[in-house]
Amino acid sequence: MSVEAPTDPEATVNETVGPIAAAIESGLLPGRVWVYSNYHCNLECAYCLTESAPRSTRRIIGPEQMVAIAEQAAALGFKEVGVTGGEPFLRRDLPDIIVAMSEHLPVTVLTNGTLFGGDRLDALDVLVDRPVRFQISLDSPDPEPNDAMRGPLNYAKVVDAVPRMVGRGHTVRIATTVDEGAMMPDDQVRLCALHRSWGITDDDHLVRPIITSGRAEDSGMGERFARDQLPPELTISDHGAFWSAFGPTVHKGRTDTHLLITRTTLPLEVPALALLGLVEGRPPGADASWSAEPFSR
Ligand code: SF4
Repeated sequence: MSVEAPTDPEATVNETVGPIAAAIESGLLPGRVWVYSNYHCNLECAYCLTESAPRSTRRIIGPEQMVAIAEQAAALGFKEVGVTGGEPFLRRDLPDIIVAMSEHLPVTVLTNGTLFGGDRLDALDVLVDRPVRFQISLDSPDPEPNDAMRGPLNYAKVVDAVPRMVGRGHTVRIATTVDEGAMMPDDQVRLCALHRSWGITDDDHLVRPIITSGRAEDSGMGERFARDQLPPELTISDHGAFWSAFGPTVHKGRTDTHLLITRTTLPLEVPALALLGLVEGRPPGADASWSAEPFSR
């Protein structure tokens, strides 16, 4: 008869959980990875962080790479993936890409919500009953102030699209971007009444400040944040991997590199470990561009 050595259950867990998963479980790293799918947009908002516009360079991340990011993120222990741009739904291939990404992780996709007046709304049907939610921008309960920031007819298109999306079974959140961090109380009450009328709860209404970057920097809007005020959410763009979704912004046509971690994006373990090293206080790698005081220029 042989006697096996007693096993320590905790030691077994620690051997099988990788460092990224352990950091996410402990709260050291956020569990979400962001992907900039493209940089062009049908709008040209006054505060856009990426100076996106119809004429912008598209800067697309390929479909295989986007799906690989989701697959590898899941394997590393991340819990969710976010897709942003530019306007992601200018890409006709996006619904199918998100279907494939959502096989691996829940997906939140940020959109201005203005493209869903025709067949693009039908194209979203493949996403119903999947772990996918849409985050749509709406800045005011009134058309004039909203459209002053986001462009003509933006309000009308959004208030038309959102209830139809909810009616088709999509999960929709509303994101409100405000200057100087606050809305007038009456405006907030009326905006909340509007999203509740669509069946969107207060938990799915985000209010966030303008960040002084991109076009907002030129128009003197927003608030500046130092690196350590921003959650270290791994963010992948065509330019590399960044500390935050507020990292790969664009000013005067050039991508900001203050929050660049590494130009290597795949395998995802490379930027994920580089980010973990930074969070733990280790210096970035040789292919990184790093400033101790980002957003302080
Ligand atoms: S803020 Fe969003 S919707 Fe507006 S121009 Fe930029 S990417 Fe487009």
